[in-house]
Amino acid sequence: MGRSARSTFVVQPGKTHPRDYPADAPSKGPDDKTEGGTALAELRSKLAVQQDMLYARGAEGDPRSILLVLQGMDTSGKGGVTGDVVSAFNPAGVRFASFKAPTSEELKHDFLWRIHKQVPAAGLIGVFDRSHYEDVLVVKVRKLAEASVIEQRYSRINDFEAELTASGVTVVKCFLHISFDEQRERLLARLDDPAKHWKFREGDIDDRQLWPAFEDAYATALGRCSTAQSPWYVIPSNKKWYRNWAIASILLETFEDMNLSYPEVDLDFKRLKERLAPPN
Ligand code: ADP
Repeated sequence: MGRSARSTFVVQPGKTHPRDYPADAPSKGPDDKTEGGTALAELRSKLAVQQDMLYARGAEGDPRSILLVLQGMDTSGKGGVTGDVVSAFNPAGVRFASFKAPTSEELKHDFLWRIHKQVPAAGLIGVFDRSHYEDVLVVKVRKLAEASVIEQRYSRINDFEAELTASGVTVVKCFLHISFDEQRERLLARLDDPAKHWKFREGDIDDRQLWPAFEDAYATALGRCSTAQSPWYVIPSNKKWYRNWAIASILLETFEDMNLSYPEVDLDFKRLKERLAPPN
């Protein structure tokens, strides 16, 4: 079987800079796109069954839920993971949230205010496309808050996530790691494909020029906010099929740890079937 996906991709203590990790597909896992596709199809079926049990249990009072946090540079595939992996789930059980630059109302509140509102309820899978981590990433790189304010946020985030864990939310944090060159290819592809023009923002090129500063900010966030209960996973994401396989594998292991089963409900089957008998 080899090592679990979680132990393969979890951020290592003292090794938190993106440059310490491969962005290309490493040897663990499927070897190519075809193998990756086959493995993903299998994982998707298993994930769907697990989610069905989670949802059913939520309806019967089990407080547990899962929160998948997706972070990464522009074009790293946050939307792709939603389309390719999260789509395995029944949408009724998914709570999706994307976090853009805060509105003027959001800015008048604590940075976690808008995040709290999107935490998945019992039985659901929450997906964050960007997250509270933006407040120690773009905010830090672009100096959108005082350094002392940002400094306090790492422990605020750890406390917040510990609270989530204690209340039954398993937080799965994935950093989608692509290389600088791969981002260039993807931005160029956006320019060449009319179906992708709407995704192109010139601001993405401005952020790209700050790549090293973003990497440093990621290194700090990964180092300071990877805890035993909610670690960061670094996902090699230059190859989409590998990224999808890795995240689906981590999610399945997370589900399997929850030991889910359908809730046992006390029904008087005999009487209920009698009531459903056709009238004679
Ligand atoms: P995406 O790139 O996620 O598809 P957009 O192109 O609308 O969507 O970009 C969202 C932008 O919002 C990103 O540049 C991101 O850095 C920014 N953003 C998200 N959260 C915050 C925040 N808390 N403070 C400032 N900017 C933020």
